[in-house]
Amino acid sequence: PVLHFFYQKNEKTEKTWPLLKDITVKTFQYLSNTFGPYPYDRYSVIQGGDGGMEYSMCTLILGEGTLGGLSGLMMHEVSHAWFEMLLATNEILRAWMDEGFAEFAGQEAYANIFPGFTPHLNAYESYFKLVNSGNYVAPNTPSDFFPSNAAYRTGSYVAGCLFLCQLRYLMGEDFFKKGMLHYFDKWRMKHPGDDDFIRCLEKTSGMQLLWFKNLWINTAQKIDYALEPPVAEGDKTRLVIKRKGDLPMPVELTVTKKDGSRELHYIPMNETFAVKPHTAPRIDEPVWFWVNPSYELVLPIAYHTIASLELDAKHELADINRRNDKIENK
Ligand SMILES: [Zn+2]
Repeated sequence: PVLHFFYQKNEKTEKTWPLLKDITVKTFQYLSNTFGPYPYDRYSVIQGGDGGMEYSMCTLILGEGTLGGLSGLMMHEVSHAWFEMLLATNEILRAWMDEGFAEFAGQEAYANIFPGFTPHLNAYESYFKLVNSGNYVAPNTPSDFFPSNAAYRTGSYVAGCLFLCQLRYLMGEDFFKKGMLHYFDKWRMKHPGDDDFIRCLEKTSGMQLLWFKNLWINTAQKIDYALEPPVAEGDKTRLVIKRKGDLPMPVELTVTKKDGSRELHYIPMNETFAVKPHTAPRIDEPVWFWVNPSYELVLPIAYHTIASLELDAKHELADINRRNDKIENK
């Protein structure tokens, strides 16, 4: 599209807005490639309002912040052109589908355009904080009926963003990307609901995902896996993993040996009825039937050769207690 920029020139905006133009071009390129092509021939970024506000073909944003802050805000608001405008979801009933998805897309765009930036760290942090405070409620709470502003913010922006992070973890990068594009193809210019969305991802991945949508969105159930202290048994290591949370997920265990080599063990969970594809080497373990509160694994590796054992080493899971995820063998 042709991009227009409207702002009042002063000492602050003179330094940032000229640079914002190129960043906005890159944002549109990234979002169009990742989430489906922007169909209109123009879009305007306008200084105004009291924060950021989204419209189909323009945004009003505060104009005098740092370039980083301005860019992040612009990316979130521009992402709304996809998530709630082209894919016209109901903001009052399902804020997580537009605020959460826009937050996810904006952060992904930011990481793509500013290498070195790790997306979604704030989302995980504020989710863990609210969960620990006991004030987290199910994201499907109607927007006007959240018990507090923090619960609304976390239940929409954060929970919707982490919902997509968890789905990417479940499906793998490739299926996830295809699923998001399929969602766009099938539902752009229409009014999708949450079941329509998850069905698109099921179609592209061949995985059952409705159970996850129901638990993550309709309940306040949480993920928490923990490693028990391993037992050395000659040339083997016996390990028990505990499911302490009431939201089950597939589990990934990274074994780092003292010689520096690493092994990824993947433990599928029965509800998905499929395993996520992989490109890097991976050892697939037997399925964990989630109703079992623990899972035993015997590694054919002597414990004295192991440096550490770690669940979810890439910190993709919204596991509410990461302190019980890693054991170092000192
Ligand atoms: Zn927003």
